[in-house]
Amino acid sequence: MTTWTNSFEGTGPLGYLQSGRAGQSQQPGPGVPAAVAVRGLSKSYGRTKALRDVAVTIRPGEMVALIGASGSGKSTLIRHIAGLEIADPGHGRIEVFGGLVQHDGRFGPKARTIRRDVAVIFQQFNLVGRLSVMTNVMIGHLGRVPGWRGTLGLFTRPERDAARGALARVGIPQVCHQRASTLSGGQQQRAAIARTLVQRSKILIADEPISALDPASARRVMNILAQINREDGISILVSLHQVEYARRYCPRTIAMRDGRIVYDGPSTALTNAFLSDLYGEASEELVLFDDPADAMPSGKTALA
Ligand code: ADP
Repeated sequence: MTTWTNSFEGTGPLGYLQSGRAGQSQQPGPGVPAAVAVRGLSKSYGRTKALRDVAVTIRPGEMVALIGASGSGKSTLIRHIAGLEIADPGHGRIEVFGGLVQHDGRFGPKARTIRRDVAVIFQQFNLVGRLSVMTNVMIGHLGRVPGWRGTLGLFTRPERDAARGALARVGIPQVCHQRASTLSGGQQQRAAIARTLVQRSKILIADEPISALDPASARRVMNILAQINREDGISILVSLHQVEYARRYCPRTIAMRDGRIVYDGPSTALTNAFLSDLYGEASEELVLFDDPADAMPSGKTALA
């Protein structure tokens, strides 16, 4: 079994990153590549600095929440790790399981191949509405089957079985022949997760996967992500608005503000007081409960 060192790797601008042993910002042991290693990543859009010297290590099998108010840089970081965007010239390096995704504003030579190991799901589900759920899920095979076969929809029996198995795993086997557009939001997100299972990626990055969902669907989706993480050992980075979900499902949270990482440590440390300190007024955006039943009695919140 892999052993990990137990110390934080750096100091954030507000001094929270070095604050103890309990967090999980550990470096993988010698010779074991991190699932994700980001160093010195900066990204500007015109005058907007979306990422400022970001460094993150995610170890194999971790489930990590990424929180922050709107515009703090969560999506931008996710798009970079997924190999969908390139950082500012000369700024930063991203590796996935030791493979170079990008370096100094250029993609690595094997970035396309590495991208197959990184599945991404988005708030908007990104299914093709007019296609059946099965076909949408089988699209997850495309990185591994010859292009012509995928384009013609010629999937083999094992590939179809894998798609059916994935839909069963996320709890919606009955919708496989429906058009994706006929599913509820929660079902669409579960179908999107099924597609990532078929992709057989090693890392799943979810960009606000529950923001558009009702509380019950949101919990179902988070439960499925946690189950995949636990059972398949897939590393998961999930950006969230609601801190309560980070606390409930993710042992470790990375918090962003103005393009910087301002906290990286145990999710249990994210009390209301701490978040107010970290974010000021913007913390209100992060501590909302989605369901009054989640609030603690006597007006206290579970984070207080
Ligand atoms: P978050 O996901 O935390 O809401 P984003 O990563 O989407 O934040 O955005 C971070 C900052 O970068 C914001 O100021 C946003 O307006 C800006 N930004 C993100 N993507 C683009 C883009 N494609 N073009 C211009 N500005 C962008």
